[in-house]
This record gives sequence, structure tokens and C-alpha cells, in this order.
Amino acid sequence: MKAEILDGKNLALKIKEELKREVQDLKNQGINPCLAVVLVGENKSSQKYVSFKEKTCKELDIKSLVFRLPENTEETSLIKLIDELNENSQVNGILIQLPLPKHLNQNKVLERISPFKDVDGFTPFCLGRLLIDSPLFIPCTPKGVIRILDEYKINLEGKQAVVIGRSIIVGKPLSLLLLKRNATVTMCHSKTMNLQDITKKADILCVAIGREKFITSNMIKKGAVVIDIGINVTASGKVVGDVNFDDVKEKASYITPVPGGVGPMTIAMLMENTIHAAKLQQRVAI
Ligand code: NDP
Repeated sequence: MKAEILDGKNLALKIKEELKREVQDLKNQGINPCLAVVLVGENKSSQKYVSFKEKTCKELDIKSLVFRLPENTEETSLIKLIDELNENSQVNGILIQLPLPKHLNQNKVLERISPFKDVDGFTPFCLGRLLIDSPLFIPCTPKGVIRILDEYKINLEGKQAVVIGRSIIVGKPLSLLLLKRNATVTMCHSKTMNLQDITKKADILCVAIGREKFITSNMIKKGAVVIDIGINVTASGKVVGDVNFDDVKEKASYITPVPGGVGPMTIAMLMENTIHAAKLQQRVAI
């Protein structure tokens, strides 16, 4: 067997084209979607992600404001900026690029964002709404994963879905979304014992751990759908996932590549959430 590639890059392009048209429609109604991104410190990956977000906003004609703050920014200044952005009616979405420098309390900072501008979906309010099956903003990466599965008409109902990784950014919300689609979900993490026994039972295996090529073909079931969320930079500077793609693709039925899988979908979903925020705030029918 050779797995079919789940082409997130192409799907993201298609979605962005649709969103571009939607932005123009909103502009014709006098609504100008605007995303504010806050980056604290010098983290190289974060700088790269923020530039991607800025570039994609430009492509879609969404206004973007980027606040680049020094590493030693005090929590009170960051909170003050968030308060100002919450109050600013021109700003529809607010995103704090993670991870924050260690001296800042991430939960406290995220909690300060108005839930109606929380395009990343990480505030307790938005995560709570997800938990009660009434989402306001769905975190972008898990949302992108479900969108890929839908695009390829992969049925989740009654399937064994295994998610490795339990962050609020990826693993936990993704588990909730899979559960909502009636998959039987198992969550694994660094303390999980006999991981391979669990992954080998997965019809759908989603991996978000940040460990280069960690999943190999002996860890998966024949015909499994493998979603690789990991982004790791090798010693030689190459970007690879958490799954050993070349090995696993021979045994899986579907697989996301890295790059070109979940990554581009995450940004497309961020744009979608920003447009959703603009509509919410302008009370446009959604
Ligand atoms: P975190 O570091 O927050 O979480 C990693 C999770 O993996 C933790 O729950 C940890 O367990 C678990 N874990 C680590 N090692 C193992 C192991 N050996 N076996 C089982 N579980 C393990 O990472 P994120 O969720 O933020 O990101 C995960 C990966 O996804 C990263 O590579 C990141 O770059 C990528 N990512 C990609 C995105 C995209 O757009 N494609 C977006 C966001 C992230 P424990 O909780 O016990 O510590």
C-alpha cells in the first residue's frame, strides 16, 4: 500500500481564495477585517510564523498590525496593550504569539484577550465553549486538521482516534473535535505507557509532540490515517514532522506531509477566524 497524500497546501490555497472573495464582500459593506499580532522577544520560529501571518493577511487584503515587543517586556505593559486592542473597534482579532518569554504568565496574558477577538481560541471562555459543543473560535491547528479530514471525506464516526500530545494549542482541542465527530478518542502524552500498543490500534493517528520522525511504521496499523502536526527543524535546517514520512507512507492509507500538510491549514484557519471575528463584531449574519 502507498498512502494518499493529504495535501494541506493546496487545500489552504483554495480556502484562501474563497476568503479573499469574502473579505472583498465585507469591504463592500464597509467592514475592514483587521488582525493584531503581538510578538514578545526574539524567538526565531515565532518571528518566522508572525511574518507568515503578516504576509497572508496582505494576500487576503486583511489589515494586519504587528506589535514586536522586547524580550524583557513587563507583564503590566503587555496587559495594557491587550486592553487597548480589546477596546480598539478597528481591531477584530488579537493573537499573542506563543511561547511567551518565561517571566510572563501565559495563562494570565491569554485570559486578558476579549473572547470575541480571540482568533486563536485559547482563552478559557473559548476553550470552555468548545467543551460544551458551542464553539466561538476553534483553535486554528485542530480546526485545520478536521478540515483536511473532511476534504478527503474521511469518516470519523465510530473510529479509533489516537491523539499524541495534550497541549491546549493542539492535542486537547483536537481530541474534543474528534469526539464531537463521534470518534472514540484516546489521548497520549509523555507519561503514556506502552504507547505503541495504543498507536497500533488507531484508525486515525494524530501526532503533535515535537519529536523529529518519532512515529515509525511499526507503531501504526495498516491503512491508518496519519496526521502529522509536528514541525521540527533538523540539524541541517530541514523541516520535518513527528512522523517518519518515508517509512509510514508505505503502510498508511492517508498521510499529511511536513511541510505542506497541517501547517498551511493553520494559517488559513487563522484568516477564517479573523473574518469570523469581523462579522461577529459587526453583527453580520454568520
Ligand atoms: P507542547 O510541547 O506544548 O506539547 C507536546 C506534547 O507532546 C505534550 O503533551 C507532551 O507530553 C507530549 N510528548 C512529548 N514527548 C512525547 C513522547 N515521547 N511520547 C508521547 N508524548 C510526548 O507542543 P505543541 O502542542 O505546542 O506542539 C507540538 C508540535 O506541533 C510541535 O512540533 C509544534 O511545532 C507543532 N505545531 C505545529 C503547528 C502547525 O501549524 N502545524 C501548530 C502548533 C504546533 P506531556 O504533556 O506529558 O509533557
